[in-house]
Amino acid sequence: MNRMNQETKARFREIRDKVEAEQRLSLEDGIFLYDPGVRLQEIGELANWVRERKNGNVGYYNINTHLNPTNVCVYRCRFCAFRSDLRDPKGYAMTDEQVLDRGREATENGCTEMHIVGGLHHQKTYHWYRNIIELLHTNYPQIHLKGWTAVEINWFEFQTKQSVRWVLEDLISVGLGSMPGGGAEIFHPEVRDQLCEHKANTHAWLDIHRTAHQIGLRTNCTMLYGHVEKAFHRIDHLIRLRELQDETGGFQVFIPLAFHPENTKLSDIRKPSALMDLRTIAISRLMLDNIQHIKAYWIMLGVETAQTALAYGADDLDGTVRHELIYHDAGATTPECLSIDKIRGLISEAGREPVERDTIYRRVHRDSNDFTKWNSGASVDAQAATTT
Ligand code: SF4
Repeated sequence: MNRMNQETKARFREIRDKVEAEQRLSLEDGIFLYDPGVRLQEIGELANWVRERKNGNVGYYNINTHLNPTNVCVYRCRFCAFRSDLRDPKGYAMTDEQVLDRGREATENGCTEMHIVGGLHHQKTYHWYRNIIELLHTNYPQIHLKGWTAVEINWFEFQTKQSVRWVLEDLISVGLGSMPGGGAEIFHPEVRDQLCEHKANTHAWLDIHRTAHQIGLRTNCTMLYGHVEKAFHRIDHLIRLRELQDETGGFQVFIPLAFHPENTKLSDIRKPSALMDLRTIAISRLMLDNIQHIKAYWIMLGVETAQTALAYGADDLDGTVRHELIYHDAGATTPECLSIDKIRGLISEAGREPVERDTIYRRVHRDSNDFTKWNSGASVDAQAATTT
């Protein structure tokens, strides 16, 4: 186990004092915490302290399913193993019947949420994407539709020649409930230009989330790490999110996404270690003082690391998940779905109280005679504020 030298210890003490005094950490502080000379255990303990202050002893999860209506995509992000060319045999686009089948399956399995993201299909119009939301909402109105990343919204803006606000309001009118946080990758142009120079740029991503928040749509935010970026780029990314959150308060949760290299154009890169995953989760908790939740996304981290992350700043494991394709195409070896007992067991084993939440962080109450019947109660955040 590495021991911190005197200088590192003194610098870490300064950071600890700032966190305990609820002062904001700077770019330099964040970069320092990525120095391997700073013991992960110390950072984890500090992040855990913040996590317990914000979210008590609870570990959240939800019961959800994924829907990726098409993998055909006009873009060619270097980190993406999911996309397909238009005429590649791997390419698909779901029919209305297939979409409705997924809605039915989700209802039968008690899902509260569908997470809907996919490729930007060369031949599908905005109305095809809009219709997916409308079909699901009309037939399964209780399921919360968390759909379309800022990259897709940017594409719809291009297709319709309408404003971001118009697109979002139109999607809300047919049933969109919130937006996922994908497509953020790494904001700094030194990295973004190497990964995905053509798709929605940093300004567009942030502006779409800003507009969403302004019209009352809650969104999530992410960071894809462990490829060509350095500590500076990660902290710069977190600070850009923190600044937008200061402005709008609309992000509910931050999800650090560990890069999976298999089947991508970056397959020569080694995937981040569990130690790097835990360090990134802990540093995110410390830097993002204005975002309530930090999610350890078990699909990408692996079940064991995600469970451990509950003691390193994370308070949420995401969901039971069905039909995840994007990271499994990139070599994720995690199961495709966790049972409710398994996810609750993982949280309890970590010494946390498992609490089922819905997409917008309200406590879910289930009918004790019929598991598939449920309703949403009060916000868990209001509760956390009164119990911590
Ligand atoms: S990450 Fe999204 S936008 Fe980029 S190639 Fe893959 S599906 Fe297309």
